[in-house]
Formats: sequence, structure tokens, C-alpha cells
Amino acid sequence: MNQLSAIAPAPAGMGLPVLRERGQREVFCGLTGIVWLHRRIQDAFFLVVGSRTCAHLLQSAAGVMIFAEPRFATAIIGERDLAGLADANEELDRVVSRLIDRRPDIRMLFLVGSCPSEVIKLDLSRAAIRLNARFAPALRVLSYSGSGIETSFTEGEDACLAALVPELPASDEPTLLVVGTLAEVVEDQFTRLFTALGLEHVGFLPARRAAEMPPVGPNTRFLLAQPFLANTAVALAQRGARRIAAPFPLGVEGTTRWFQAAAAAFGISAAHCARTLEAPAARATAALARSRVTLAGTKIMFFPDSQLEIPLARFLTRELGMSLGEVGTPFLHREHLAEELAMLPAGTQLSEGQDVERQLDRCRSTAPDMVVCGMGLANPLEAEGFTTKWSIELVFSPIHGFEQAGDLAELFARPLRRRAALRV
Ligand code: SF4
Repeated sequence: MNQLSAIAPAPAGMGLPVLRERGQREVFCGLTGIVWLHRRIQDAFFLVVGSRTCAHLLQSAAGVMIFAEPRFATAIIGERDLAGLADANEELDRVVSRLIDRRPDIRMLFLVGSCPSEVIKLDLSRAAIRLNARFAPALRVLSYSGSGIETSFTEGEDACLAALVPELPASDEPTLLVVGTLAEVVEDQFTRLFTALGLEHVGFLPARRAAEMPPVGPNTRFLLAQPFLANTAVALAQRGARRIAAPFPLGVEGTTRWFQAAAAAFGISAAHCARTLEAPAARATAALARSRVTLAGTKIMFFPDSQLEIPLARFLTRELGMSLGEVGTPFLHREHLAEELAMLPAGTQLSEGQDVERQLDRCRSTAPDMVVCGMGLANPLEAEGFTTKWSIELVFSPIHGFEQAGDLAELFARPLRRRAALRV
């Protein structure tokens, strides 16, 4: 049953009701971000200080090949440490020294905190200062928390990038900074389009290598490429950078408006922008046609997971003709999502946070054609006859920009086609 009493009055300018829930959640912890961050920063290493559970999560989420040199690992806090018989700081220093001896190619080391109480007691930021005194400048050591108590799923990337911001070089040059991990193919496409627009000084955070992290300063304008970077945005503002308000570059409309916002912020004419974007936008629109046949008229519901839910709901309803059931998100950042919220259909039911049993009841009563949810909910929902899409796949796949719009639509169309084929 819906918690009607929990529906907050809609803030002025948004016009959409928000159901706020604080109950049992079904969301991965922030360690998950290591899976895509370690692929992006190619000379970084992520050392989780945690438990066997953390090691299992990373191992199964990342699916490391046995012959690959991994760029993440878990320093497991064992029973001896938990009993206080070992000095955890000395042990950590020993583990890091062994790692650096073995892997001199590592240029940036992230110490990543987790849930066990002994890890929480360990001050990883002080450990990072201590290790920096020993290894800098050849190696930079940073720390952040990926603990499930403090972070959910995509908040791990936010915590990592926020830790990186104070380390960025300073610059007074007018520059554009694109913030959020993107697939390399997407970054290359975006760079080409920014160049065609006339924007030469464009940096990406995080960069591919530790030594190439972009500069930041009072003349930096930044564009968020991901909707889950609240703390990173605050850290950038503290360095004097200013955010360019825009929807997120998902689908044709979101990508077009994202580039338009950047162009306007740097005084590039709307006419030149329109000419530059015309051909890729037309290609992307054509690429949506096949999926649209499958998706138009179907209803989708989002369980809160990746924080991508609202931009995806906007894309699916406006460009592919889907209707929206409940759109759940773990956190609703009204300022960063203002442009997205303004494009959702009137009456869209938003929910923030989760009380999973209640949400499952609402899912059953509204019977959507497709449910986007975490892996833990997908199998039980499939067993009940729902068609599901793992939200984690949307974070791992290249989905941003014009050239990926067709692939993004197909990620939703394929499960519906598969379900239809199974029914025959
Ligand atoms: S929830 Fe906590 S204990 Fe579990 S994997 Fe994540 S950080 Fe480790």
C-alpha cells in the first residue's frame, strides 16, 4: 500500500509529487564503483581495506581474469586484527610497501574504506598522509569511503572524485571540465564535438592517467556527465569552478541540450552549435527507430539504485514513447536534476529512498511491462513474471552521447523482445 501520508508537497517549480521512504534498501555499496573506476584511471590502484565480503563483492562484480594484473585488491581485516592483536596501521603500511615493490607502475593509490568496525576506527586519511610522506611524488595516495553504511552504489564514484579534486593542479585559464567517468569511446566522441564547436580547452575528470588530471580554478566551468556527483560538485565549487546547468547527455535531446549549455556558457552562437550537432543528432534519432517500435506504449518502473533513473525516465518517455510507472531514486538532487525534472510528464510519481517491501507491493499493483532494478531484485521479479533490466548494466555500458543513443534504447528493447519470443 502506498504511504500517501509520506508524499511531500511538491516544491515550487518542480510540480511532481515525491514519495520519501526510509526503510530496507536493496542497493549495492560504493565499492562497486571501483569496477569502472579502475578501468578508467589506468595507472591507479584501489586497495579496499575491508572484509572477506568486500573481497567477494569486488571479485564477482569485476570478474577478473586469472592472468590479468589486477588494479584493485582487498586488504582483509582478519580475526587477529579484529581482536586488536595486530597494529592495523603497521599492517596496512606493510601491505602497501609490498604492493608498490611489486607494482612500480602504479602512480595513484586509493585506500578505500568499508564497513567493519575496525576499518571505521582506522583513519585512512591519516594513513594516506603518512604513506604520501614516504612515496610522493612518484605515487600519490588518497583515501575515500566505499562503505555500505555511508555510500550506495554510484556514491562510491562521487566519493572517489571528491577525494581527487583537492589534488588537481590549479589554473586560471578559462576551461571546460567534463565530470564523471565515461567510456573512452564516448570521451573521444565528445572531444571531437567540443573541438568542432570551437572549445579547445576541455578536460575530463577523472583522466585516463594520474599525471593527466585536469586543472581547475575560478575560470573553470564544469558540466556533470553523471547525475550522482553531488560531493564532487561541492569540492569543485570550493576550488572556484562553476557548474553549467544542463540535463545529462543521455539520448538525443539530453545530449543536444548538454552541448548547447556548454556552448552558451562559452559564448558560442546557437546557430553554430545547431549546425555542429545537426548530423550526429540526426544519426542518433534514426538509430532509435527500431527500439521505438518495441518500446512505444509500454510502461516502465524504476527501483532506486544508480541515480540514473530520472534522466533515463526522461529519455524513455520523450524519445521512445514509453509511459512511466514509479520512478525511484536513492537520492534526489533537485538542483542538479532541475532540467531533467522539468522534462518529465506531469503527474510522474517520483520516490526517493526505499522501503523495498512497500515498493514491491506498488510494483505488483501497477504491473509495469518492465522493471529497472538491482540484481538482487531482478530474479525474484522475473519469477513473478516481470521483465527486468539490471540497473548496474546501465552504469557499466557506454550509454552517453549521440552515437550511443541507439545502443541505450536497445538495452531496454531487448528484454521485451526476449520476453515476447518466450511467450510464443
Ligand atoms: S556493504 Fe560493507 S562489508 Fe559489504 S561489501 Fe560493501 S563495504 Fe564491504
